[in-house]
Amino acid sequence: MFTTKGVIEKAEKFGAHNYHPTEVVFSKAQGVWVEDPEGNKYMDMLSAYSAISHGHRHPKIVQAAKDQLDKVTLTSRAFHNELLGEFYEKLAALTGKNMILPMNTGAEAVETALKAARRWAVDVKGVEDGKQEIVVCRGNFHGRTISIISMSSEPAYRRGYGPLTPGFKMIDYGNIDQLKESITENTAAFLMEPIQGEGGIIVPPMNFMKEAKQLCEEHNVLLIADEVQTGFARTGKMFASELFGVEPDVYILGKALGGGVFPVSAVAANSDILNVFNPGSHGSTFGGNPLGCAVAIAAMDIMVEDKYTEMAKEKGDYFMNRLREIKNPNIVEVRGFGLLIGMEFNHNVEALCDELKDVGVLAHDTHETVIRFAPPIIITKEEIDWAIERIKKVIEK
Ligand SMILES: *Cc1c(COP(=O)(O)O)cnc(C)c1O
Repeated sequence: MFTTKGVIEKAEKFGAHNYHPTEVVFSKAQGVWVEDPEGNKYMDMLSAYSAISHGHRHPKIVQAAKDQLDKVTLTSRAFHNELLGEFYEKLAALTGKNMILPMNTGAEAVETALKAARRWAVDVKGVEDGKQEIVVCRGNFHGRTISIISMSSEPAYRRGYGPLTPGFKMIDYGNIDQLKESITENTAAFLMEPIQGEGGIIVPPMNFMKEAKQLCEEHNVLLIADEVQTGFARTGKMFASELFGVEPDVYILGKALGGGVFPVSAVAANSDILNVFNPGSHGSTFGGNPLGCAVAIAAMDIMVEDKYTEMAKEKGDYFMNRLREIKNPNIVEVRGFGLLIGMEFNHNVEALCDELKDVGVLAHDTHETVIRFAPPIIITKEEIDWAIERIKKVIEK
């Protein structure tokens, strides 16, 4: 009944054009594989920007969702649900923080962290309300709300959306001197991605995050790690901050937390920070809903039981080494950690990604010149070999 052509035509006709998707329709998916309406099979090397770390439709997560669908799906936070406490407990254990605030999308969790930091600055640090400053990094990606794009350096994200939210200062990613200079008595927080995902899989100098944490401690500034994309084993550690030996004050989490089934996001921090919220000060109708909790609990259990950190490290090292065997004079660098890998070229890679699609490998560009390879963490060595054979053919020709 559905055809690729028909589906795309209808979407283009009635949908706002805020995306430019590759011309592939997913009609079925399982594990690392997706299938279009005509029965063509592709390997998913994007994993919905790391939200499909468990692979498509992980049976245990799908089962948890089905079981919960038969019980209760939404209570709002005006009432309790059976699973919220358990969700908190598991996420607290994973992050080592003692308090959790649940939301739905990554952007909402970022907004929550910004609010927490601003209010903490007033209530705990003693900054005058309205004077709080938050330091961010050039090249960041934290989402799409007005306040979040107000701290972006990307003109395409910002144009025509003014007036923008004040109170942000920007430094070069990885530049500790600029961070030092940017901090004042009004600084509430320094917000960073441990590795910039949308920015092009950019890894900062290995000592940057640690030095940033020290500076933050010296000046009573919160270090907020946006781990929406890098979190939950993607980089070979449960959180990418660990790669740099840092425990941030605040974690922003999302994407893979929802197990590829349902949007679930959260902020994790200790109570000296999250206690700034009292009833009425923040919320979300769907945040912490029982269906999301069921899915997230299953997603976290699987990551721990199946040792996703080890899987991502082992498969990621193998994949990265095999990608480095590929010869093409236009390759600038292959970099990343675990299964968050960027292959940078000295030219736009959109055409290459289209060619990869034609041989059955779905990868997407990030920042125009970088092909992002971020397959589901459950990918096998054989599946990586299958992909490498095709990637090699396309890139070496
Ligand atoms: C994707 C992403 C977000 C935004 O998440 P949404 O669920 O799309 O709102 C925030 N931060 C980072 C680092 C991301 O990669």
